[in-house]
Amino acid sequence: MSVLVVVDHDRGILAPATLGTLTAGRNLASAMNTTMEALTIGANADPLNDTLSAYGASVVHQAHHEILVDYGPDAWGEVVAQVVRATSPQVVLGCGTERGHEIVAQAAARLDLPAVMNCTEFKPSNSPDGVLTLTRTRWGGSLLEKAELDSPIKLVTLADHSIEPVESKVISRVIKFVPTLDASVTHSIVRNRVERIAGVTLATSPVVVSGGRGVGSAEGFAPLEELASLLGGVVGCSRAVTNNGWRNHTDQVGQTGTRIAPDIYIACGISGAIQHWVGAMASKNILAINIDKEANIVTKAGYAVIGDLHKVVPAICAEIKRRRGDS
Ligand SMILES: Cc1cc2nc3c(=O)[nH]c(=O)nc-3n(C[C@H](O)[C@H](O)[C@H](O)COP(=O)(O)OP(=O)(O)OC[C@H]3O[C@@H](n4cnc5c(N)ncnc54)[C@H](O)[C@@H]3O)c2cc1C
Repeated sequence: MSVLVVVDHDRGILAPATLGTLTAGRNLASAMNTTMEALTIGANADPLNDTLSAYGASVVHQAHHEILVDYGPDAWGEVVAQVVRATSPQVVLGCGTERGHEIVAQAAARLDLPAVMNCTEFKPSNSPDGVLTLTRTRWGGSLLEKAELDSPIKLVTLADHSIEPVESKVISRVIKFVPTLDASVTHSIVRNRVERIAGVTLATSPVVVSGGRGVGSAEGFAPLEELASLLGGVVGCSRAVTNNGWRNHTDQVGQTGTRIAPDIYIACGISGAIQHWVGAMASKNILAINIDKEANIVTKAGYAVIGDLHKVVPAICAEIKRRRGDS
């Protein structure tokens, strides 16, 4: 019986969210009169033991297997499920990161248990298998919901940045665990990495020119690329665009993409659905270009041009070039 924290790390580099998750796990364990244990997956996690003991993990379960050389959601989820079956924790707590959510969701499906993501608070009841009262964020953080989880083992993730990490050193015992894994867990696994080119990114650029379904095709982004380049910015997009395969997911703005806060956000042919809006709403200025004057993004933007983006964007580019004296 314990609170088991699933450590998020990338080949031995700890995800910053793990420290807050360990702190929350320790607080929860203490409220439940039990201990906090940690689970690391992959041989390259060995160097993390000192940090895990500094943050109060009384046991570090280390899962080693030749398949676990890099991250794979099925493989990591299966490892968590096997460790849960072997050690019967009361609570499994994952990080509120993309990987953390993925691993806990995978484990929950394999254990046939519910999982609650993005919690900000946990209140245990007095009995060991009683309900866990939770506060969790919904709708991209715009709503806080109180919920009760009464499954025999509670699988949850902690919303990122919801607690300040605090050290509390204990002496940790390391227990090696060798899971039984086969090729069925390697459907999706990281096999290759391409370094991002240095420079401004979607998350840091002061100008983002974003396109939505209204752009119509991958080729339709050429004028948006030109406008972004003239303004020293980068191109973003909506999920309709990534779903259509017109651009990579790395360009997506929103709840399941990147949250941005540029000086100016130019949204072309984007309706401004809530899931997109939560990723763009921190922009300091928004210009919407849309044929629909009732579109959500138009009603929220500081500036709007009601018109066809295929005419408006080239016209803006031409005017910028004319004013700069470009030919
Ligand atoms: C769990 C979940 C997570 C999601 N996460 C995200 C996310 O992270 N990011 C995201 O973007 N979405 C996300 N979505 C999808 C979201 O709900 C919307 O479906 C999506 O944002 C719509 O994309 P869009 O605005 O490009 O397309 P649409 O809603 O189809 O809007 C197209 C817009 O283009 C305008 N238009 C059409 N032609 C032209 C033209 N020639 N010139 C100018 N304007 C034109 C139309 O008037 C319309 O306003 C998520 C959905 C779910 C359920």
